[in-house]
Amino acid sequence: MNTFVFEPAEQPSLAIAGGDARFPVHRIYCIGRNYADHAREMGAAVERGQPMFFTKPADAIVADDGHGIDVPYPPATKELHHEVEMIVALAHGGRDIARESALDGVFGYGVGLDLTRRDLQAAAKAKGHPWDAAKAFDASAPASVLVPVATCGHPVHAALTLDVNGERRQHGDIADMIFDVASIIHELSKLWTLAPGDLVYTGTPAGVAALARGDRIAARLGELARLDATIV
Ligand code: MN
Repeated sequence: MNTFVFEPAEQPSLAIAGGDARFPVHRIYCIGRNYADHAREMGAAVERGQPMFFTKPADAIVADDGHGIDVPYPPATKELHHEVEMIVALAHGGRDIARESALDGVFGYGVGLDLTRRDLQAAAKAKGHPWDAAKAFDASAPASVLVPVATCGHPVHAALTLDVNGERRQHGDIADMIFDVASIIHELSKLWTLAPGDLVYTGTPAGVAALARGDRIAARLGELARLDATIV
């Protein structure tokens, strides 16, 4: 047993539907521009050859255990955007995972928000700078309760929706992802050693827009997963 000079940070984790044990979050991977309609609204080319990945720190998670969450409006932005995304949670990892067996490593699915400081992202893009300040800030990764594959299987079609104050802002279907779940895992595992506890945010459909303090967000992955958040 190591001794530490101060208490290590708490392990970020998510609730699991139908059980008391929690899912310990290891890393958070995100794919950009995985829905053609969103790539177009951002003025980006729709690329089907090579996926574009970025990451968030594990402690960016804000876990909605089923009762709703408060999410702090981050500093240094005037344009905080919502992006509703299906989350894939991994129970097994590895390197160079074949597309054909990639789904075997999936623990379950959920819904989350890839919160984005869009003004900082636009400035970073203009200068060719990295996206960390735009994407990987504190509390930038709200996430729902996870539903295990044993319960839900591997969803192929499911509505992905986001309402703000009762008005629909985003409505897509996971069937429209450019890179499907198996392809994302396959491609990620060429670049990183995937591990149990990794989460993948799988991209957002069109309709991303700005949030303000007091906004109430309802994000849904069909009937499978729900996340309710208030920006405070
Ligand atoms: Mn995103």
